Amino acid sequence: MAYVADLHLHSRFSRACSQKLNIPTLSAWGKTKGINVLGTSDFLHPVWFIELKNQLKEDGSGFLIHDGSETKFVLSVEVASIYSHKGKGRRIHNVILLPDFASAERFQKELLSRHANLGSDGRPIVGISSKDLLSIVLQISEKAIFIPAHAWTPWFGIFGSESGYDSLEECFEDLTEYIYGIETGLSSDPAMNWRIKELDNRSIISCSDAHSLPNLGREATVFDERLEQGYQGLFEAIKNQKIAGTIEFHPEEGKYHYTGHRNCNIKYSPEETKVKGAICPKCGRGLTVGVMERVEKLALRSNEELRIDNVKGIIKSKAFPEKAGYRMLVPLLQIIAESFNTAPTTQKVLNEYEKLTDLLGGEIKILTKVDTGEIAKVSGSKIAEGVDKVRRGDLVIDPGYDGVYGVVKIWGSEAGPKEEETPQLELFD
Ligand SMILES: [Zn+2]
Ligand SMILES: [Zn+2]
Repeated sequence: MAYVADLHLHSRFSRACSQKLNIPTLSAWGKTKGINVLGTSDFLHPVWFIELKNQLKEDGSGFLIHDGSETKFVLSVEVASIYSHKGKGRRIHNVILLPDFASAERFQKELLSRHANLGSDGRPIVGISSKDLLSIVLQISEKAIFIPAHAWTPWFGIFGSESGYDSLEECFEDLTEYIYGIETGLSSDPAMNWRIKELDNRSIISCSDAHSLPNLGREATVFDERLEQGYQGLFEAIKNQKIAGTIEFHPEEGKYHYTGHRNCNIKYSPEETKVKGAICPKCGRGLTVGVMERVEKLALRSNEELRIDNVKGIIKSKAFPEKAGYRMLVPLLQIIAESFNTAPTTQKVLNEYEKLTDLLGGEIKILTKVDTGEIAKVSGSKIAEGVDKVRRGDLVIDPGYDGVYGVVKIWGSEAGPKEEETPQLELFD
């Protein structure tokens, strides 16, 4: 049976992350969300690694299990490489998956021997180039999965406008063939990536990059393999582009979709940049080039060539039917919050969320499969209508830019201003 995986997230040992991110809470939220396999995240961090070894057992398939929980884990970490290459400062994030604790320990040792500081951040910063990092990982395990993270973000993506590259080849040179997939990040969707020919023979995967429990699975990847095939199945699916599909944020919601300057309150679509240029009219400095514009610049294929098709919410390319399709969703907490005209972090919203996911199965199933009549029976017609509007893409979206998240509205402006309430996230404490 197909399963859902979220392979890039963080523990409480990564900077700016919730203190509630631990194995029991991750397991519980994995079930609520309807995610079958979660990345452990941050396995290079020495304290977190001990916690992982104490609380997770290898199940013999390359996945890890936590006592009595349905959620499985796979060893994953994000590494930030800061270095200079071809006369330019590079800052690239890569996500690395390994098949067992022994390989993870060897990787830790290799980085420590190169004087990496692994204890200060769960997502360590190293002075090792992306290519050298890939080379180290491949020597540790030929089953290593190395995925350039949020590939398009201006400062930390492989294709980023500020400190990235124009191609995988430029970055990884003779090791490029070992890059089996890239992560879309919140600001791009698979269709934008389908325009890049270099990605034709690579998997386009999606993950949440969650820094808190409620954000788990906001983007995720669906695999056709059976769970029992474990790490090997995951590895082969990514390597051979056999993923079943992805679940996506609306890319406009990402923090770097459009071009602009947050402090100067300037935001341009690619069409506007063509007319007005990429210099800020307020401060005179260069604007932060958004993901959409960057894709336009690197794409060798037009959007029209893809012949995008939307069949019952599943988006595919008619020109490239072999490419895995995807669905665009809005988090259920956000739908409930908007229907109550309040913030997603309030206890009222969390109570409704818990009730719905308890009675009708995980969030992903509710958003994609459960009959809206059933949703209405549990939570009333407004929330059911919200889910239906999300499925139909009947939304109002104000795109994000220069580090500012975009805003999705399900009921347009009718919902009115949000009530101020103290955030509470006590669902599983
Ligand atoms: Zn990152
Ligand atoms: Zn400016």
